[in-house]
Amino acid sequence: MVVILLTRHIGCPRVKFNAFLQFPLFIESEFGSEVSHANTTDIPRENLLDLTPQGAEDRLRAFFEGLGQPGYRAKQVVRHLWVVPVSSFDAMTDLPKHLREELGKTFEIPRLTVAARQKSADGTEKFLFRLHDGEAIETVAIPEGKRLTLCISSQAGCALQCAFCATGAMGFARNLDVHEIAGQVREMRLLEPPIDVTNIVFMGMGEPLMNWKSVGSALTILNDPAGLGIGARHITVSTVGVLPGIVALGQRREQFRLAISIHAPSDDLRRDLMPINIKYPLADVIEAAKEFDRRVTFEYVMLGGVNDQDVHALQLAQLARECGAFVNLIPLHPGGARGFHPTPQGDIIRFARELRAQGVEVAVRKSRGIDIAAACGQLRVERMGRRPPRTPQQHGDVQVA
Ligand code: SAH
Repeated sequence: MVVILLTRHIGCPRVKFNAFLQFPLFIESEFGSEVSHANTTDIPRENLLDLTPQGAEDRLRAFFEGLGQPGYRAKQVVRHLWVVPVSSFDAMTDLPKHLREELGKTFEIPRLTVAARQKSADGTEKFLFRLHDGEAIETVAIPEGKRLTLCISSQAGCALQCAFCATGAMGFARNLDVHEIAGQVREMRLLEPPIDVTNIVFMGMGEPLMNWKSVGSALTILNDPAGLGIGARHITVSTVGVLPGIVALGQRREQFRLAISIHAPSDDLRRDLMPINIKYPLADVIEAAKEFDRRVTFEYVMLGGVNDQDVHALQLAQLARECGAFVNLIPLHPGGARGFHPTPQGDIIRFARELRAQGVEVAVRKSRGIDIAAACGQLRVERMGRRPPRTPQQHGDVQVA
């Protein structure tokens, strides 16, 4: 991830901490007792955090009725899933002890394990979460004035292999479950002191629209007042342009925002940088952006000598005008981008001016400071090693919306 000061218009992409060695690094063992799964029985329990708040309430109501308990108990428990989260049923002290024990026999509310936590001088924090099967994902918390944007992951690894991205280089492991996506925000509320998240961007590891089933439910949890209660306009889904997913997002009644990673204004160049362009060519992506009923943001990572010439600005302006898109220019973070160089800042400004002259609204994201650096996925790579790239056939389990 680079990092990148979010503009008014979103986005974390890619925050990296070059400061890994200079700032406190907390390691797994320090968190071990607090974050382990509490389940000690062999009977599989139902994961309440994989359900939407309404789904959990319905299930719990039936459960409590079976115990001859009043229905309001269900709401009490649901409140402790997301709104005022607790780390175990035992901590739901507004319920009688015997009910807490009964809950623990049937249900689980699993935590994500903080394997590493690093803080940069400007307050940006990066978390590496270890999942139950040993996979690891990254989450970045970026404070900016009154806002705190959380950059979350939707997959462990990524199948798309964009040429400049560290996550792409590590290959695809699996889709995240609902509770692993929304759980990244839940874990912020469980920290001591808690981190109060105001905005969400799906710009961590993975392609959210290739895991729509889980991302769709996670969006409900993020936005629902009985869930995490974050306004839909403060939640941005970033995609390479997975067309069925864009349609699915557009059909949601909530005003979730859409960002599309364009990165090249012509098919030839985009194919080289983003192999997904073979499946979803630029013209179709632009068409989908036009049909999306809310304003779309284009993300455009500035690759020195590759996509940052005047001709590219003119082509990009044309595309942006076609669908009224706002353009975010992103300085490349070289961490994950072997063989690429960042466009010099002055040239980025010139490129932005060119776009503005063409009638396009544009923002240049700023790096959060020299102490921050680390391509997305780099912390995971440092800790777990690189995964050998997978063949497209091996990506068969990637779920497309
Ligand atoms: N798969 C989704 C979301 C995750 S990536 C997508 O591609 O949009 C989030 C953003 O970070 C994307 O725009 C991606 O292209 C960008 N990104 C990846 N590696 C980067 C790097 N080294 N420097 C700058 N931005 C990068």
